[in-house]
Amino acid sequence: MTDKTVTVTTPIDRYGVMGDPVSHSRSPVIHRLFALHTQQSLQYELLPVPPEKLEIAVRQFQRTGGKGLNITVPHKTEVLRLVDQMSERAVTAGAVNTLSFKGGEIYGDNTDGIGLLRDLVVNLNISVEDANILILGAGGATRGIIAPLLEMQPKSLMIANRSLGKAEALAVHFSRLGPVSACRFNAVPVSTPYDLIINATSAGVKGEAPPYPIDAISDTTYCYDLSYGLSPTPFSVWAREAGARQSVMGWGMLVEQAAESFNLWRGVRPDTAPVLKQMSIPA
Ligand code: NDP
Repeated sequence: MTDKTVTVTTPIDRYGVMGDPVSHSRSPVIHRLFALHTQQSLQYELLPVPPEKLEIAVRQFQRTGGKGLNITVPHKTEVLRLVDQMSERAVTAGAVNTLSFKGGEIYGDNTDGIGLLRDLVVNLNISVEDANILILGAGGATRGIIAPLLEMQPKSLMIANRSLGKAEALAVHFSRLGPVSACRFNAVPVSTPYDLIINATSAGVKGEAPPYPIDAISDTTYCYDLSYGLSPTPFSVWAREAGARQSVMGWGMLVEQAAESFNLWRGVRPDTAPVLKQMSIPA
């Protein structure tokens, strides 16, 4: 009789981020560090997917046993039509940045807002309550951050966008939650200085520079760029040169929103501080 040992290997749980462009994303590094720190076994891939291939790519990932995806520029609203169930915060946002595949169904959630809030309030100690806030951009990321910002009861929230119609649509959509209005970049009201300016355009990623409203900045203004880089982003350079009190890139939000996604997928919330430290992120 021969002694045969059969080894059954369980396939490693697969996750990834889909976007276009996505090569700049640091999400794989962050999720690998979370996995290491929480002793979870998983794989996380960068998945460049153009808009016309989004549905095919998501369905294929699901069919081949993928467990979860992060969805980034420019797919956060388009992906809604592929989702079977959504969290309340994703419904409110009308945008999804996290998909979980369970029992043949696709669950959509949005962790951008909580990620930004954690970075602003917990990590950076920036007060949002009673603040005058200006958001530049009206895309998927803006959709995710408006409701959590309004929950903190700011004095006002202005959305400025290149395409006015998109900013106006968001102002109408969120008006039941607080004082939101909309304008074009060149019509930002500046009679009262802004306490917080958030850049949520993707202009920097594409090497473009929108006409940021210089008169909206004073020496008491915090500037936060959702975009991030190993060297200062065009917006953060502009904000510093315009005399902002502090100019911060979105590394903290990136790590915090990733921690929320990781928690949804794995049922364990990783500690973000050591990951932020380990990534040697520039200020
Ligand atoms: P979308 O593609 O959904 O929206 C892009 C927005 O940028 C639109 O408002 C668009 O204006 C505006 N825009 C693009 N190019 C220009 C330009 N040249 N001049 C003026 N406005 C421009 O992207 P998202 O909302 O998903 O993401 C926005 C940015 O936020 C990205 O850089 C992304 O990487 C970053 N992000 C960072 C996160 C983090 O964790 N740090 C999380 C989420 C996003 P229009 O409507 O006129 O086209």
